[in-house]
Amino acid sequence: MTASSSLVYRLGEFHSFSTRDRSFLYLVPAGAIFELDAAAQALIDRLAQGEASPEELCAMLAAQGLPASEARELIAELAHSRVIVAGELPRVPLDDAPPDFPLQTLVLNLTNQCNLSCQYCYEFGADKVATPEGKPKFMDFETAKASVDFLLGQSPGRRAVHITFFGGETLMNFPLLKKVVIYGKERAAGEGRSIDFSLTTNATLLTPAIIDFLSENRIGVTVSMDGPADLHDQLRVFANGRGSYDVIEPRVRALIRNHRTRPITARVTLTSGVADVVRIFRHLKNDLGFHEVGFAPVTTSPNRLYAINDSGMDDVLGQFRVLADEYLEYALRGELHGFSNVSDTLSELYQGVNKSHPCGAALGLVGVGPSGDIAPCHRFVDSDTHSMGHISTGMDRDKQTDFLRRGHINSKYDCHTCWARPLCAGGCHHEAYVRYGDTGHANLHYCDWIRSWTDTCLRIYGTISVHNPEFLRVFAERKALS
Ligand code: SF4
Ligand code: SF4
Repeated sequence: MTASSSLVYRLGEFHSFSTRDRSFLYLVPAGAIFELDAAAQALIDRLAQGEASPEELCAMLAAQGLPASEARELIAELAHSRVIVAGELPRVPLDDAPPDFPLQTLVLNLTNQCNLSCQYCYEFGADKVATPEGKPKFMDFETAKASVDFLLGQSPGRRAVHITFFGGETLMNFPLLKKVVIYGKERAAGEGRSIDFSLTTNATLLTPAIIDFLSENRIGVTVSMDGPADLHDQLRVFANGRGSYDVIEPRVRALIRNHRTRPITARVTLTSGVADVVRIFRHLKNDLGFHEVGFAPVTTSPNRLYAINDSGMDDVLGQFRVLADEYLEYALRGELHGFSNVSDTLSELYQGVNKSHPCGAALGLVGVGPSGDIAPCHRFVDSDTHSMGHISTGMDRDKQTDFLRRGHINSKYDCHTCWARPLCAGGCHHEAYVRYGDTGHANLHYCDWIRSWTDTCLRIYGTISVHNPEFLRVFAERKALS
């Protein structure tokens, strides 16, 4: 070790976690997972007590019976992976995205009208950012065509692109949806490329004919639904206050029965009165037959009645863990469980993501409103404050650059020492705006929760990687929903 005798090692930046029978590190600068054997664990334990030279580390490992050549190899491997580090390590900022980063996904808000009046809705509720006054309520075909052309024109090099239909209630403009699917497929095929589609709906307007069309065209469907009737009907109501469960239940059953070309998923918004995660999951997955169910706490100011307080979020975490344990049992048998919050995180871990931004908003994804205004994502559509150009004139690159710069992890100083930043990157821009009035603010109200949940997912990932690594292959292609 003479050549390296001036080196003094210390621990790098990682989060340790263990499963029943193994120990791992989550390496923060790389967003990678590293399994520890006994010798590596001993070396980590030694450095946890203070810095050490390579000679001291070799001597310690020799005392444990490790030959000198293997000890040197181990030290070199840990140094290469930056589990251990030496000398000055300047913070290496993640690169800015290039301004012409190719689009992957367009979210097309076909209408800003809805036939429900869900009290927590970010489009219409007390926390809305949209300013739809004086703008078209329904997108027209010219705007939709220009949007498809925009997507294809702004996605050079991508063989496949994606359109998600959104609302308001998406199916209130189903005639346009049909035309866009036909036009989009033709346009993409003309360029030797492909385009696929998905939509989010409250399911109230589903008919057999619509279901047939969705199935024939392989259109992915996410239904916004909050569980069995007593929970769903608390906030997902018509304008007269009547709950929507009875209207959607037979339609959802018909959708799941007859749409056989893509898995049907449910998305649940958790609120103070609707946080019975396990019961909701059982109903949606087992009683109704959704392929996957995902949960998100409502995005709101903390003083709203339906906001979930800290103890409520602790309870949600406990219930997430019940389902996560089940997920693990399924995965070890090679079966899919359907709790998509776990799948989304495992997918990111499998792909080794290390995010500069929390999501694709204004990066690989943009939203387009009924008026043709471009927004960072569907949640900012129709907002004058957040408009980023118009479909007829293109993206306002200055506004896009400003949005991305403020949302970049490099700008979020509070996050720079957080081990969860490769996956979280400060959290949703829209939630940050609702909470802090700044899309670039880190969502600091839920950091402990995020770290606890990420730790749970790391343990699941670690266990699967040891006992049924084949299962993880399902995440090679999966894209997390945002
Ligand atoms: S918002 Fe919180 S949990 Fe997320 S990266 Fe920043 S400090 Fe970590
Ligand atoms: S995470 Fe937030 S900002 Fe990002 S796409 Fe989703 S809603 Fe929009």
